[in-house]
Amino acid sequence: MQIDFKLIKDRENEFKNFHISNSKHFIISSSECGNGFLMPVLYEDLDQSWTKLENMEENEKSILEETAEVKKTSLPKVSIVVGSSWLEQCDRIPKVENRTSMTLSLIKSYGLLNDVTPIPARKATREELQTFHSQDYLEFCDKTTNNDDLEKLEIHSEHNFGIEYDCPLIPDIMNMIQWIAGGSLVAAEALNSKQCEVAINWGGGWHHAQRDEAAGFCYVNDIVLAIQQLRQVYDRVLYIDLDVHHGDGVENAFNFSPKVFTFSMHKQCAGYFPGTGKITDVGQGKGRFYTLNFPLKDGVTDDTYAYIFENLLSEIIYSFKPDAIVLQCGADSLSNDPLGGFNLTPCGIAKCISKVMQFSRPTLVLGGGGYNLANASRFWTYLTGIIVRGVELSSDIPDSDLFFDQYGPSFELSILPGRRPNLNSAEEVNDHLEEAFRNLEEIP
Ligand SMILES: [Zn+2]
Repeated sequence: MQIDFKLIKDRENEFKNFHISNSKHFIISSSECGNGFLMPVLYEDLDQSWTKLENMEENEKSILEETAEVKKTSLPKVSIVVGSSWLEQCDRIPKVENRTSMTLSLIKSYGLLNDVTPIPARKATREELQTFHSQDYLEFCDKTTNNDDLEKLEIHSEHNFGIEYDCPLIPDIMNMIQWIAGGSLVAAEALNSKQCEVAINWGGGWHHAQRDEAAGFCYVNDIVLAIQQLRQVYDRVLYIDLDVHHGDGVENAFNFSPKVFTFSMHKQCAGYFPGTGKITDVGQGKGRFYTLNFPLKDGVTDDTYAYIFENLLSEIIYSFKPDAIVLQCGADSLSNDPLGGFNLTPCGIAKCISKVMQFSRPTLVLGGGGYNLANASRFWTYLTGIIVRGVELSSDIPDSDLFFDQYGPSFELSILPGRRPNLNSAEEVNDHLEEAFRNLEEIP
């Protein structure tokens, strides 16, 4: 089908409810959230609005009908990880206690569980954990099982494998990490068996855990394990990390690999955790140029972020040609996160995620950071709505929700930008983009 975008653009002003953009895939958006970016079609509006198109010439109309048809049939088949034991263990993660329950509850309250296939989580086996984590680290985690004297373990251990400070020594770590990892493994398996096109695990996304060390609230790197699992079926995997922190654990795991491309957009400034992820860090050995880091400063806005993301993603997909995508959606990049510093909204990040969805690769969607727990739950519920239904959910939090009280005082789903100034200059952003494009050209 040949689409004359100029023709459509010329008529755009006549139909105030529509913004028509020249994407290869989806053409029409009626979102108040978008200003030239793509958002999914609102079908109800579309149906009502066909009558407004009566006066259009037949060829223009058929173009719009055809493109709407493409979108109507293109909502992905989505699965989501669930399970009571899994939920119980995800809820134990220090600093984000009960966050996974809050999220799944809100998703249920919006009726979204009716539109997805549940994937029951399972425990990862010891052997599966060992495909990435060291035996020594796992043995240390084992020592917390049925141990009623953790203090003694703390005092007498020569090496604590990062289990301290933000990864405190808590009971039964091994059981907890087996369930957390198992959640992402079953999601990857669902994609491998083609049971779904998008698999969501809001209990996963623990990108800082290293082979032999816990770090930054992450006791297990479920992402690395899931990517390894996906690679049994999909040769080239693109990992995208939208958390405010650099995805160091995943990058390190695949630093030398040309089969896994890691792309992280994150805050970087002196003293900010984990301190890695410079624009010049591009991977090593055979993996050189298969890593892309885009460091940012405080206050980045939706428009700046989406501009960078959209430009880079298209180039990465073109150069790397991934067979599957893993998307970490850390909620700490939202405005008002206590550990963040960015000024993003769910609406802005959803533009990026809609862009990923357009490439129609098998996609694993994961959570991650997010220390305003109610906002993380809001964000991931909103994203689930966008992915599953292609529409924005109603902004009123259903008052039947188990955690309704946590969403006050607004009791709304939306999260607004704050007043934080954007410290990212256009010049610096464009310099970084140019450097990133030069590096992407090096991919054979
Ligand atoms: Zn984070």
